[in-house]
Amino acid sequence: MAKKLSDPKNTAEVIKKNEFAFKKKFGQNFLVDDRVLQRIVAGAGITKEDRVLEIGPGIGTLTQALCEAAGEVRAVEIDRDLIPILKETLSDYDNVEIINADVMDLELSSVFSGSFKVVANLPYYITTPIIMRLFESGADIESITVMVQKEVADRMQAAPGGKDYGALTLSVAYNAEAEIIANVPPNCFMPRPEVSSAVIRLKRHEKPPVAPKDPAYMFSVIRAAFSQRRKTLQNALSNDRSLGVTKDLISEALSELGLDQRIRGERLSLSQFSGLSDLLLEKRAG
Ligand code: SAM
Repeated sequence: MAKKLSDPKNTAEVIKKNEFAFKKKFGQNFLVDDRVLQRIVAGAGITKEDRVLEIGPGIGTLTQALCEAAGEVRAVEIDRDLIPILKETLSDYDNVEIINADVMDLELSSVFSGSFKVVANLPYYITTPIIMRLFESGADIESITVMVQKEVADRMQAAPGGKDYGALTLSVAYNAEAEIIANVPPNCFMPRPEVSSAVIRLKRHEKPPVAPKDPAYMFSVIRAAFSQRRKTLQNALSNDRSLGVTKDLISEALSELGLDQRIRGERLSLSQFSGLSDLLLEKRAG
């Protein structure tokens, strides 16, 4: 039976024995708290029926628990130095495959042949691009249960109008139902990060809550609105040439939606962005 790496003594021993040096550039903060580990696996609802993709297994702490709970596990790790360590710490399990790659280059829809779940203690330097990629990949992902910076978890669940509300909030709202399942202090990691963390579960919607005519165009409108969030929506959108709309057209659309001419993007809900992008497309076409 493999030694539980969630015990800090065992993690320290593996690090020492392999003369492993933590790499800040890869966001390497390994989990050393068994209770948090169990919360992640239980929160993700993993059973032997499940296939799980883990992003960034590190030395295999979460991977061990996933191998125990799931049917099949694929773990993608960017750091070449961790591969021989993972081979050893996971040697008791025959339901795991370790992939040495950057998750941003991985063809997500071919990792498994059917649907799967994603579970990870994400590297914080690249959290948002990873989440966006998971949503946009077209892969059949049932749910995403991930440890992220607390501040990012708050952004994923923010209400319109506040500082946390933005393009990430709207992408999450369009794609999934979000629930924070644990708050995790820095002392649960080795080495300790400077920020607090949270585990969030994103359960994919069977059908998005809004049906814009062109979702990609709606997200271009959203990105433009928040790329200059201090500006009025009218200015932010007309400054982005790729949207192909003039100030006059935007003004007409705002009036038709009953919105103030000076409104900022941070005030609009997902369904208002959906309505706005449909109207802009219509007006643009003439
Ligand atoms: N899962 C381990 C744990 O909970 O202890 C490690 C988590 S650590 C926060 C993040 C891991 O992601 C590190 O092992 C790091 O090397 C890996 N990583 C960083 N960037 C990556 C990328 N682009 N693709 C795949 N793995 C990455």
